Amino acid sequence: MKVKVIGAGLAGVEAAYYLANRGVKVQLYDIKPNAFTPAHKSKDFAELVCSNSLKSSDVYGNAAGLLKEEMRRLGSVTMVAAEIAKVPAGGALAVNREEFSRYITDKIKSHPDIECVSEEIKKVPQDGYALIATGPLTTADFAKDLQKLAGALYFYDASAPIIAADSIDMEHAFVGDRYNRGDGDHINCPMTKDEYIAFYDALISAERATLHEFEKAEVFEGCMPVEIMAARGRDTLRFGPLKPVGLDDPKTGRWAYATLQLRKEDKAGTTYNMVGFQTNLKFPEQKRVFSMIPALKNAEFLRYGVMHRNTFINSPEALNPDYSFKTRPDLFIAGQITGVEGYVESAGSGLLAAIYLERKLSGKPQVIISENTILGALSKYITTPNKNFQPMNANFGILPPIDVRDKKDKKRIAAERSLAAVEQFISEIS
Ligand SMILES: Cc1cc2nc3c(=O)[nH]c(=O)nc-3n(C[C@H](O)[C@H](O)[C@H](O)COP(=O)(O)OP(=O)(O)OC[C@H]3O[C@@H](n4cnc5c(N)ncnc54)[C@H](O)[C@@H]3O)c2cc1C
Repeated sequence: MKVKVIGAGLAGVEAAYYLANRGVKVQLYDIKPNAFTPAHKSKDFAELVCSNSLKSSDVYGNAAGLLKEEMRRLGSVTMVAAEIAKVPAGGALAVNREEFSRYITDKIKSHPDIECVSEEIKKVPQDGYALIATGPLTTADFAKDLQKLAGALYFYDASAPIIAADSIDMEHAFVGDRYNRGDGDHINCPMTKDEYIAFYDALISAERATLHEFEKAEVFEGCMPVEIMAARGRDTLRFGPLKPVGLDDPKTGRWAYATLQLRKEDKAGTTYNMVGFQTNLKFPEQKRVFSMIPALKNAEFLRYGVMHRNTFINSPEALNPDYSFKTRPDLFIAGQITGVEGYVESAGSGLLAAIYLERKLSGKPQVIISENTILGALSKYITTPNKNFQPMNANFGILPPIDVRDKKDKKRIAAERSLAAVEQFISEIS
């Protein structure tokens, strides 16, 4: 049994290592060390290109912490490396990035069943089992060929923040659609003139994230950040994303001075996105400024808005729930290019895709991990029809709802439910 894995980043190394440990012969391709993407610098695999943090280590109160625990239980090599390379970082799991990548590279290079090939793959393999994990900076030729298979391919992210529904202050918001045309899919957050002016002043002076040189042109051509739009004039937003017309506030019976609309992100209505609020503000600034909107004063931001260079396919159209292509069941894909976002999310999807691939390869019936786990919820999210598909990171909002009021209890119960489902999955695939 032989499998080509293309890309030795976070997802690719997880997949290669899992497969090789089950007797599959793996050829692992990467352009490194002969060539590098604009963000990669190290000759080692599984490079952390920016922050050295793998986010929270709180298993029972934070979705990123829970995801890591799910992966540990499934035997993730990146989680072993993180434990070995960890550095003190309060409640987060941060690592010495060189040690982290070196540990993984040694494991991969010394594995008798992994052959590492330094080569740029320019075409999607035509036949035979393969797994693509070329990441957010997939090289141009390969991206072009992949596009033919995947149908659509996006080259940057421009996402608005996503908010937990139960953190919206409904005393300052109302449900409804513009001119009542719709099924109540929006929550509207009105602002008075004074509230708008204070918000506006904070927005235009808030600190923005720095884009890399290679990102600037593409990102801003595609979509204008709300803070740049605002800087065009004090009233621009009131004719754009904060347009109040057609939105009768039941408290006053009138249109407000400005109104933000939140749109359901999932069918159950547990998460909402801020319509038209693509932003490049730093994360703490998003929290500070957007919480000035009265209905969002206690908002829990499940995902902050981002604008950056990012290659990803339209997974809801292209993929089966097991990370294989609908049109090519022998071809798998994992990592950030599928629309999961972040180091750990990418590694997790590589591990899961490898589990599914190995089962298919050895003729075992497929078992899909429960959507009660973060791993399962993420893969469900990226393969569920969604006309506004945007990448997603680990958060509790993508899990099936739990009917408990207290937020802390809710998260703990979700985490316990998830870990029980992981154990169940392990027993099913063993
Ligand atoms: C500038 C930047 C900053 C980021 N900062 C963060 C952050 O702070 N925190 C966070 O969680 N996430 C961050 N991300 C996202 C992060 O990069 C990904 O979540 C993660 O690395 C994705 O893992 P992956 O395996 O999908 O891709 P990668 O880790 O990027 O691995 C892809 C591999 O494929 C190789 N490759 C590409 N094309 C080819 C080809 N044609 N043939 C052969 N090999 C190829 C590349 O050399 C690379 O080694 C950042 C991304 C970028 C671009």
